[in-house]
Amino acid sequence: MPVRPHVLLISPRTELSALARMSLLEGGWESFEVEGAGSLHAGLQRLTTAGVDAILLDLVLPDSAGLPTLQRVFLAAPHIPILVLGDDDSRALFRTLLQAGAQDCLVRTRINSDSLARALNGAIGRKIAEDALFLERERAQVTLNSIGDAVLSTDVKGRITYLNAVAERLTGWNLADARGRDLRQVFNVISAVTRAVVTDPILGAIAHDHVIALSADSVLIQRSGAEVPIEDSVAPIHGRGGDVSGAVIVFHDVSESRSIKQRMAYLAQHDFLTDLPNRVLLNERLQHALDLGKRHQRRLAVMFLDLDHLKHINDSLGHSVGDQLLTEVARRLLACVRGSDTVSRQGGDEFVVLLSEIEQPSDVVAVAEKIRTALAGVYDVADHALYLTASIGVSIYPEDGDTAELLTRNADTAMYQAKADGRDTHRFFSVEMNLRATERQSVEEGLRQALARQEFFLQFQPKVDLGSGCITGAEALIRWRHPERGVLLPSQFIPIAEDCGLIVQIGAWVLETACRQARDWMQAASSFTQISINISAHEFVSKGFYERVCQALGDNQLPAGCVELELTETALMRDADGTVRMLGALHALGVRLAVDDFGTGYSSLSYLKRFPITTLKIDQSFVRDVTIDEDDANIVTAMVAIGHSLRQQVVAEGIEQLAQLAFLQSLQCQEGQGFLFSQPLDADRFGSLLAEGGLCAVTGITWPASLATVGRIPA
Ligand code: C2E
Ligand code: MG
Ligand code: MG
Repeated sequence: MPVRPHVLLISPRTELSALARMSLLEGGWESFEVEGAGSLHAGLQRLTTAGVDAILLDLVLPDSAGLPTLQRVFLAAPHIPILVLGDDDSRALFRTLLQAGAQDCLVRTRINSDSLARALNGAIGRKIAEDALFLERERAQVTLNSIGDAVLSTDVKGRITYLNAVAERLTGWNLADARGRDLRQVFNVISAVTRAVVTDPILGAIAHDHVIALSADSVLIQRSGAEVPIEDSVAPIHGRGGDVSGAVIVFHDVSESRSIKQRMAYLAQHDFLTDLPNRVLLNERLQHALDLGKRHQRRLAVMFLDLDHLKHINDSLGHSVGDQLLTEVARRLLACVRGSDTVSRQGGDEFVVLLSEIEQPSDVVAVAEKIRTALAGVYDVADHALYLTASIGVSIYPEDGDTAELLTRNADTAMYQAKADGRDTHRFFSVEMNLRATERQSVEEGLRQALARQEFFLQFQPKVDLGSGCITGAEALIRWRHPERGVLLPSQFIPIAEDCGLIVQIGAWVLETACRQARDWMQAASSFTQISINISAHEFVSKGFYERVCQALGDNQLPAGCVELELTETALMRDADGTVRMLGALHALGVRLAVDDFGTGYSSLSYLKRFPITTLKIDQSFVRDVTIDEDDANIVTAMVAIGHSLRQQVVAEGIEQLAQLAFLQSLQCQEGQGFLFSQPLDADRFGSLLAEGGLCAVTGITWPASLATVGRIPA
């Protein structure tokens, strides 16, 4: 209630003013005001400014009378309660007056302060309640329209009573059209899975009188027929007496979050590059196929594929080329199998194919060969014509295992065998392979102890000047005296040491031991000028490699030019930029750098030019057939020419025959190594050879003609 109600009395009768004042006092308002206006004109004038809480309007005024009087006042103050004062004659008019906006009609001659007080009290009180209600509604309306959720309400029979702006947008209905309609018409919801209409949610909420949530796969069919996935809940609305008087549905569009969820579920099971199922999905499918296979006594096969040399392509041409290649591999693989089979990518260059139904193992041979041939075709990627091969390992249920894990592991083992057998082939798993895999395991364990137990030693193979026959230096070759298996060659343990990281420690030992040995020989024999040391790719990029080289040189006071580090092409190409930096540093130090096994890996001539390479070592596989294979002869000729034109020292590896030597000499190839001159020798044996004066010491003869008889060193 206003503290100080202000009543405007529009009447020329002054006695009414006193009455009004009295009533306000009796109504309990101690502080109030009654303001008089003697004519309609004066009243209307007063109403142009605020501060009036109620109007007492005399129907008979000097300038107006009857209904028009009320109409004009109502028009001027539609929100202020108007109490009309008439005489007995105006009673007939009262109903019309109430309809025209009057709050109450009183007969002037019958009122006293008491009844006037009640009438004023009621009118002002109602007005205040109405204002409060209006405000409340307004607040609710603004709130409902500004929240992100759609809100819809119905009466107890399920007829629409309200939609907020979001609900209008989502259903496609506006409130005016929807009001009074059956909920089903406006809020038509089906299940995304079954497409069945969802049972009326309101009925449930109303019947059980509690909040219920709709099933998670609900889809709202809009007025236009379009579909929106929604999430919603329904709550009953209670009347004053606590009885249910309707329901309110709150819902929102979940298309985005639902599609993100679906996308995430998809990504969790697929390879992002090729879109093939990943390891997770493969395992699921394999498990399922195994269950079926067990039930129906059917075979299935797991093929483990590893792309040979993909790494080189990645390293030399970049990952984007590698990625395109992998995508094409995925496409070719899919074309080789049936729709019921699964082709999956395990990551890197590994793929697994699940053949879920096979009659007999020979069927798998056909598929494996089909895959091998399909993958071997040329790849046209980013203006490069590339070639790839795959090594494939196969395991079969039930012969090679009855769990997903065992079958995959055995297929993997078979794949390693395929690689060991020269790649570009397939191998079926066998028990022996498993033995070999276990053996590999034991080699790894043995390697961990070998350094501490001093089981490694070096042999040295002379490097010979092909012009003079003099020993120019030696290549250090590591050997492992295995406690049970005798002396092992590098091929039997270096790859394993590389895999498990031990190569870094082993390589450090080789570097140190070889440099110390070289120092001793240089002090003893002036003809010895150079030690060549093999460096693994892992070692080359390992932390502290450069420092270890400096230390080995410093400790033994070896001139840097006496040490040659041999790296394979593949190791050099692995990380071209990092390699350039390391090679630059080593070169600045004065160390010689050789490309080992030249011609067997991937190398780019531009890098060869960019790298500060001092020596090219032609791989023995080319030298082997130079006298019988014209292609090899041409290749070797070209290699020697490349080396010469880049002002590099050219060393031919694996010279076993005089004819090979003669051919290389004819090309002016400067240096060579091979069994023709010497097998790798123990340090003592090599030392005595040097002491004897080396190959040229057995002289007096013209090199190389008499080499065959006297120049050769017995192993
Ligand atoms: P590589 O550096 O190309 O070494 C030459 C290999 O050819 C040696 O085999 C050597 O014994 C062999 N060989 C020499 N002359 C002839 C010949 O006339 N005919 C034939 N058929 N073979 C010949 P080895 O000692 O078994 O070494 C194999 C490979 O192991 C080496 O190839 C090298 O890449 C690696 N290796 C050797 N020692 C080390 C080492 O200390 N560290 C690292 N990281 N790798 C090493
Ligand atoms: Mg070498
Ligand atoms: Mg070599």
